[in-house]
Amino acid sequence: MSGRHSRQDLETTRDDRVLHKLEKKWEDSPTRALRWTKGLDVRELDADSAPGWTGDKQDGEALLAAHAEELSELQERLFADGRSGGSRSVLLVLQGFDTAGKGGIVRHVVGLVDPQGVEHRAFGVPTAEEASHGYLWRIRNALPRPGYIGVFDRSHYEQVLVVRVDGLEPEEEWRAHYDEINDFEAEVADSGTTIVKVALIVSKEEQKARLAERLERPDKYWKYNPGDLAARAKFGDYLDAYQEVLERTSTDLAPWFVVPADKKWFARLAVTELLLHALRSLDLGWPPATFDVEEQRKLLAES
Ligand code: ATP
Repeated sequence: MSGRHSRQDLETTRDDRVLHKLEKKWEDSPTRALRWTKGLDVRELDADSAPGWTGDKQDGEALLAAHAEELSELQERLFADGRSGGSRSVLLVLQGFDTAGKGGIVRHVVGLVDPQGVEHRAFGVPTAEEASHGYLWRIRNALPRPGYIGVFDRSHYEQVLVVRVDGLEPEEEWRAHYDEINDFEAEVADSGTTIVKVALIVSKEEQKARLAERLERPDKYWKYNPGDLAARAKFGDYLDAYQEVLERTSTDLAPWFVVPADKKWFARLAVTELLLHALRSLDLGWPPATFDVEEQRKLLAES
């Protein structure tokens, strides 16, 4: 080896080259390729597709792994910023059909960063206390504090999804929620939260296969909920409800990203990239020292 480059330099250069090659497998940026745009109909979406991505599964897994370090560092910057009086936070809203892989996203993507900086919240059927307040009450209470990445596993969108499909409120009531949600999210975004909304779309066939797997494997019984079959029977109604959610609530301040979820590896890669993009766009440096560094060095040396 020539003396001009250390072994570490060479490894770094090689890693950079590999990373660059993998990043080029996105023929369109993930934010553009996945962002919901007018005209996109989820009822016609190929849930097995990988919009914008030209690589295969192996490439996808390699890029996810290669981006883990940056994701983790940016999360730490966000956390440091919050500790230093910053007001920024990120909110990842995960919506999806049963078996679409929300849990896997939390484990494999959100799990790449320091759990101390994550505020995760799953929203089930409202408790008696939650039901005694407006539907945004429990959501407001769960918003991420400055410096944190908030993750919503289901969200206020249930109020225009399950509530609509199961007829839990009259139509005029749930229809009013679209505007309320847009106002609410604009307020949240104004307070410094970058909102990333992800709709994971799995196909009806793939959902069947995933449910069947849960019934075949004793280690998966716990994930099987007989009640999921009732929601599955309304698959088409849910798709209609999702379509209208996208049409009515994808805004510049809080855009929706539609992620085909039949390929688990793609959904995980896609959300990693969306989260990374959100963190990069905060453009955070490290907070400067609030003390005299030289003086502290001296004092430490003398201690
Ligand atoms: P998941 O299917 O997300 O893994 P789970 O099966 O463990 O979750 P819970 O988390 O206990 O179930 O609850 C999810 C259920 O709560 C879903 O069926 C969802 O439709 C329902 N739910 C969530 N929000 C509301 C709401 N505002 N009103 C009615 N039902 C809701």
